[in-house]
Amino acid sequence: MASEIEVVEEGSGASGGAAPGGGGGAGAQEALKNDVYTAAAYGDLEKLQRLVEEEGCSVSEADGAGYYALQWAALNNRTAAAQYIIEHGGDVNTTDNTGQTALHWSAVRGHVQVAELLLKEGARVDVADLYGYQTTHVAAQYGQTAFLYHIVTKWDADPDVPDNDGRSPLHWAAYKGFADCVRLLLFLDAYRGRQDKEGCTPLHWAAIRGNLEACTVLVQAGKKEDLMITDNTGLTPAQLASDKGHRQVAFFLGNARQVFDRRCDANSHLGKLSKLGLAPALWCIIIAMLFTYIHSVIAGSYNFKLTPIFGLCAWLGALLAIAGLFMFYNCSRKDPGFINRNVRDAQSLRDDEPLLKTELNHPALLAGNWSQLCATCKIVRPIRAKHCSTCDRCVEQFDHHCPWVSNCIGKKNKWDFFMFLVLEVSAMIITGAVTIATKISCSNCERSFSTIFWWMVES
Ligand SMILES: [Zn+2]
Ligand SMILES: [Zn+2]
Repeated sequence: MASEIEVVEEGSGASGGAAPGGGGGAGAQEALKNDVYTAAAYGDLEKLQRLVEEEGCSVSEADGAGYYALQWAALNNRTAAAQYIIEHGGDVNTTDNTGQTALHWSAVRGHVQVAELLLKEGARVDVADLYGYQTTHVAAQYGQTAFLYHIVTKWDADPDVPDNDGRSPLHWAAYKGFADCVRLLLFLDAYRGRQDKEGCTPLHWAAIRGNLEACTVLVQAGKKEDLMITDNTGLTPAQLASDKGHRQVAFFLGNARQVFDRRCDANSHLGKLSKLGLAPALWCIIIAMLFTYIHSVIAGSYNFKLTPIFGLCAWLGALLAIAGLFMFYNCSRKDPGFINRNVRDAQSLRDDEPLLKTELNHPALLAGNWSQLCATCKIVRPIRAKHCSTCDRCVEQFDHHCPWVSNCIGKKNKWDFFMFLVLEVSAMIITGAVTIATKISCSNCERSFSTIFWWMVES
């Protein structure tokens, strides 16, 4: 298997530089060039007008390398120049030698403004170049998440179309390590299990390149089967990661498999037991300690003449422990603030219905807060909410998943958890102090009791 995807898009003019024939270094020299391509690239409308209207230059012909003025304008977000070119005979759907249109070039740097103009003027969003790349591929290759979001939601671009090698935008985003892009594509129902010509899924590519964050997003949104898929050479993503020396990724993928194993057999007896977690054990420990305390310390102390304040303290410790147990139960049983999954997702695992527009027009997404997207629950979660991998749900104001309580600690049970801790710690301090005090007075008493006993025997 080839170790790297042929990064063919690097060869295209779009990534070459800001100006025709050049790049940054040659830019100053190139700026002096007196042609429509340079004028378009620099957005020099006056020059463009002069060249077209006075010198009769054409805006619909390709430059020496086969690229068009409209492409240069699109690459640099020169909306006014692009508008002028379109009005003077530039075709929005003309393709260069590699089959790319101006819209492809606008995706390289994620220029939504100029793309919007091109699309309004009739640019087709589904044009594929020689390699089968559509605009969505290019956006994913350059990590232009906002651009991708815009063309998919507003212009119905296909976020899951394969290129000539069978690679979807998700393959590209995973390969390049653009985690936000991966998140968005998964949210848009891109197919995780798609295998390219080499049999690689997006997870394979993320593992080959050692992109840990992309792997995390893919695994969290995925299933155990995703980790088992083998490429044409029979290797799983974890094996590829360790072959390439990405130890952290290999460890993560191995660990993920164990988490899935635990989650998968949740229906078996053992699974149900493990789902209960450590809460029953902790419950039993507290009850056993409380019972021992009441039985041997409090009941035992009645044999000795103790002050009423001491007796009150002894019982207070027990009461605090019992109150703490109530809080423990509440915290363990309560909904910690789970956020409902998208209903559509719950109905079927893989459907082709378009996403709810209301969800996609969420202000957080419009503001580009991609981390608020949960690719697993298919929701835009509120700020401070997080996805718990143990519970496999998003939790509002997520703090942590507590194995001892067998529940997440979040918005709705954080006070119960806090009170549980405060009550049990106070109970431990008081009962501990009472026990020590009893033992000390006990050893003092023992001496006096034995004196009384022998006195009684002798008399
Ligand atoms: Zn979630
Ligand atoms: Zn949890």
